[in-house]
Amino acid sequence: MAMMTRKSITRTLLNSSLCSSSYYSSSSKSRIVESAITGSPSIGTVSATHPITSPAWFSSASYNVGGGSSFMRGVMFTEPNKPLTIEEFHMPRPKANEILIKTKACGVCHSDLHVIKGEIPFASPCVVGHEITGEVVEHGPLTDNRILQRFPVGSHVVGAFIMPCGGCSFCSKGQDDLCEDFFAYNRAKGTLYDGETRLFHRSNGKPVYMYSMGGLAEYCVVPAHGLSILPDSLPYTESAILGCAVFTAYGAMVHAAEVRGGDSIAVIGIGGVGSSCLQIARAFGAAPVIAVDISDEKLEKAKAVGATHTVNAKKEDAIEKIKEITGGVGVDIAIEALGKPQTFQQCTQSVRDGGKAVMIGLADSSARGEVDINRLVRRQSPDIIDFCVYCIYIMLLALSACRIFVLGWVLRPSVLGPYSIEWVKIVGSYGARARQDLPKIVKLAETGTFNLTAAVSKVYNFEEADKAYQDLNQGSIIGRAVVKIA
Ligand SMILES: [Zn+2]
Ligand SMILES: [Zn+2]
Repeated sequence: MAMMTRKSITRTLLNSSLCSSSYYSSSSKSRIVESAITGSPSIGTVSATHPITSPAWFSSASYNVGGGSSFMRGVMFTEPNKPLTIEEFHMPRPKANEILIKTKACGVCHSDLHVIKGEIPFASPCVVGHEITGEVVEHGPLTDNRILQRFPVGSHVVGAFIMPCGGCSFCSKGQDDLCEDFFAYNRAKGTLYDGETRLFHRSNGKPVYMYSMGGLAEYCVVPAHGLSILPDSLPYTESAILGCAVFTAYGAMVHAAEVRGGDSIAVIGIGGVGSSCLQIARAFGAAPVIAVDISDEKLEKAKAVGATHTVNAKKEDAIEKIKEITGGVGVDIAIEALGKPQTFQQCTQSVRDGGKAVMIGLADSSARGEVDINRLVRRQSPDIIDFCVYCIYIMLLALSACRIFVLGWVLRPSVLGPYSIEWVKIVGSYGARARQDLPKIVKLAETGTFNLTAAVSKVYNFEEADKAYQDLNQGSIIGRAVVKIA
């Protein structure tokens, strides 16, 4: 080991590891098979210097897929504000319960951009890209039979950016969106759940980390629980956005907002995720559906995907306008899909008493959102406070005559009706539950309930990946862009 090539890198990581999981122990079998791989980053380190070494199997360098190439190209991020580069990597090898995918398309998402701009710390160098479609090429050794049957070689698949391990305490309860291993290993260390990456640079054999599956590459390794079958009727390119933009919107609407038919909704920030929220809101029968942005072009597009009203927050007061549209009360559900302190505040203030403000936009890690404390605590309405004072007065009068009956009657929820005490709820939402939700999301697209063609506005070639992120950074992408890989 000491004689091997070493280089030190210092990385600031998001969180320390949370715990080990049953997936980790179940994958130990495959780790025996793959035990030749060394040089992985240490586990449980917040900020550390890691030795990087080459995996021993590179000496043979004979691994290839179906007699094809033994290497592939991928889009690599090295340091903030430097262009992404296309590099060559050894063909990645799946381990137990993982699948090697020949990537067909990968969406262009703001989360990658946060990493590229250094706003969200992540292990580097890494391959970015986390919403993919592709074809199943190979299964890792000792993979569960049910996975082999569900995803036979040659099948078309779509991948969710949260790839649940399937065995941690949250996954065991079906809360895949909170998967401990995903956050402890992938988001904190850039690896899969044995603490190792599957990507090694072709020229020097050094490890390269993975943002989710490292989807902006010709091949990627994905834990099988993060995949769903893509029917032949759905195209590879447009369907890539199902795994993050639509996935995130679906999770926010179904699990955080618990949207129901007839709910009034405002979506603030009409990018790829925001416009997907509009489509999901329409699919659930919400009305009115109010789109808020500062770009007339994006608002025009919003109307085509489900917005009944649009508000240009640059030209008018978004909160006032939302109140006006909803008869002065505010919306049942407000969604913040941009990740800015100002829109965070707009979101909390445009929701009605008892409604939900749902936050889904990731921000610069130093960003903080302000909340009007009194608004949150007492819901601000003087009418309600007056009503409460009136109730107390009536109660005091009535108590002298018929205490128990009157007290019970006054406090009945049906009597209190719309004035019953309910608080504004502020809820964060990150992704959705891959095993439960991704097949349902695919169904929404398959039935045309979710219009993929309307959601994808631009397609880039693989060689244009860096330009795609530059365009996203400049705000010139309306809706969602996708990089076509094969
Ligand atoms: Zn994303
Ligand atoms: Zn898990």
